[in-house]
Amino acid sequence: MVVVGGGISGLSAAWELSGGADGPSASTPRVELIEDGAVVGGSLATTHFAGRTIDLGADGFLARRPEAVDLVRELGCDDQLESIDASGASIWLRGALDELPTGLALGIPTSSGQLKSVRGLSWRARLDAQRDEHAPVRMKIGDDATIGEIVRTKLGRELCYQFVEPMLGGIQAGRVDDLSAKSVFPALLEAARQGGSLMRAMRASGPIAPGPSTTTNTGPTFYSLLAGVGSLPIEIARHLRERGVVIRTGVAVTALRRTPSGNYPWEIDTHATTTPADSVVMATPAPVTARLLGANDPALARLGNVPSASAAMVTFSVARDAVQLSASGTGILVPLGTAWSGDGSMMVTAVTFLDRKWPHLRRDDDVLLRAHVGRIDDLRWTEMGDEQLIARVIDELNVLLGTFTSPNDALVQRWPNALPQYYVGHETIVSDARAAAAPLGVALCGNAYDGVGIPASIGSGRRAGREALEMLHFSYR
Ligand SMILES: Cc1cc2nc3c(=O)[nH]c(=O)nc-3n(C[C@H](O)[C@H](O)[C@H](O)COP(=O)(O)OP(=O)(O)OC[C@H]3O[C@@H](n4cnc5c(N)ncnc54)[C@H](O)[C@@H]3O)c2cc1C
Repeated sequence: MVVVGGGISGLSAAWELSGGADGPSASTPRVELIEDGAVVGGSLATTHFAGRTIDLGADGFLARRPEAVDLVRELGCDDQLESIDASGASIWLRGALDELPTGLALGIPTSSGQLKSVRGLSWRARLDAQRDEHAPVRMKIGDDATIGEIVRTKLGRELCYQFVEPMLGGIQAGRVDDLSAKSVFPALLEAARQGGSLMRAMRASGPIAPGPSTTTNTGPTFYSLLAGVGSLPIEIARHLRERGVVIRTGVAVTALRRTPSGNYPWEIDTHATTTPADSVVMATPAPVTARLLGANDPALARLGNVPSASAAMVTFSVARDAVQLSASGTGILVPLGTAWSGDGSMMVTAVTFLDRKWPHLRRDDDVLLRAHVGRIDDLRWTEMGDEQLIARVIDELNVLLGTFTSPNDALVQRWPNALPQYYVGHETIVSDARAAAAPLGVALCGNAYDGVGIPASIGSGRRAGREALEMLHFSYR
């Protein structure tokens, strides 16, 4: 059994293949995981910065979905779980910061009263919200619609692009006008289908996490790990090796070949080796899977049509007395296209107060801030070197925070093509690809299939692991 790709999805698949929570048994197959990167983890990685270990990519995960928490517990790492220590956020509207009201449903207001305190919204936006409560716009919805189509129609352009998009589009660096409500925010589609007030329907659906409703609604909202979320893949890999799983890093899979007349139905090539396999778990980004498997079926080739967004994050350590942050909140959201005194619109889409969120990062003399740049349609940062990008972000932070000069240290981390976009029709691409892959003895997983984010990716990997085990009982030749 071979797993291609050692991000959190591939590692979770290998965990399941090697016995999951129960551990290996007599029937556990030989498992080999092949990862292109120098280390396992994909978008989960840590580094040393400003005297602490920080995450370079994802820095927390939803606690209200079970997948990540369950896996951490199965690894025996419960003592590493750290609850988020801040809540709320601000949004930059009309040149000033406004606190986001509580009770939003993933960015969607649930009553017009909530918006009273948001000074940066126009009277028009407030009227649009009141209209939704008292005379909601009728909207015909078919099988799916974009998030933008729904929010713009029901709540107006300003609330859609200035208020909802910064939060919702930010999750996967996409645009609400492209993202499928069915795939990304099914509760929104359901609320719009009810035909009345969108805000009332969202309010009735209760607290919401992105993706399918496998959530519980008690306890903390987000967790990190004391050694960083990037320590999770390292810990899984350590357990997998103890279970006898072979993990090869720094090796790209270059081809997968069907060998119907051989002893094994598949051969997996790297530049130097060929591994035979009964079945394969593909945990690579969708375009890589399309390139490696597309010749077997047009539905697998169509995975190459799943777009992905690139983003970068600039992390700063700055003396505590050199910056003045809002009294509370986890950070700041910046609507796309926000005008400022510098060149073009602002590039920063969000600022995270890292050490306010996670107590293990706190120190007396400095604070850790992270600026996020880049969207599917904003690649200006890719044309800048690190120093130029840092200088640009400092200029923007000077505006957003009032003053921000002379950070002690700065670090740029770029994430090319790391965030798949779920457009309308995505579900069909995924279900067709899985239907084509299964008879070949191939299970597909990763954040292009079952949702973006750590819990969804873990769930996706474990599902693929179970599917691959079932495939062992059939013949695929
Ligand atoms: C900047 C950023 C911030 C994020 N923040 C959060 C957050 O705070 N919370 C959250 O829940 N989620 C967050 N996410 C999303 C989350 O990190 C991802 O959804 C998840 O890590 C995806 O895991 P994956 O295994 O599916 O994909 P990946 O991590 O992309 O792993 C795919 C792996 O396949 C390997 N590979 C590719 N080609 C080959 C080949 N030919 N042969 C062998 N291996 C190959 C790659 O090297 C990679 O390791 C963030 C993502 C990014 C990019």
